[in-house]
Amino acid sequence: MTVLRQITACPHPATRTITHHTSHVPLWTLHLCDRHRHLATRLIGARRTTAAATPAPRCGTCHDRQPITRAIETHERLWLTGCGEDAHWPARLHAAAMYSAHLGEPSAAALNEISQVTAHGPDDPDVQTRVLQLLATAEQAALTRITAGCGQGTVEHTPAT
Ligand SMILES: [Zn+2]
Repeated sequence: MTVLRQITACPHPATRTITHHTSHVPLWTLHLCDRHRHLATRLIGARRTTAAATPAPRCGTCHDRQPITRAIETHERLWLTGCGEDAHWPARLHAAAMYSAHLGEPSAAALNEISQVTAHGPDDPDVQTRVLQLLATAEQAALTRITAGCGQGTVEHTPAT
């Protein structure tokens, strides 16, 4: 199972590729530009950095093959809040959905949908894949909102006078 994630809203090509392997299987591969290289520390595990291939993938592209519990941890390190202390990942996602709804966040509806998908059988690999794909979509939307004020490649809004 590989889930394609986009962990930045950065439009620039990556300059480096960071990988984390275990037993010769890459658990995740992340492409970042110089400006966003610090984001690699939000993912978990020993890593190896090489120059990005040519043509370079877009900054923030992540091929994620982590088990769901670890993958959700990386979502928490990047954007997902309110997961609580429960060790069981469906409970963590439910807590995050409730927290997001409580705050009236734009991601609340998506998180509620994801939380409901887990009810179809959290141990089913197909359900886990679906949850991780939906989380990747919600992540991209959330990070686009979070990084929209950072300037690069974003539309400047001029206040009406
Ligand atoms: Zn970047």
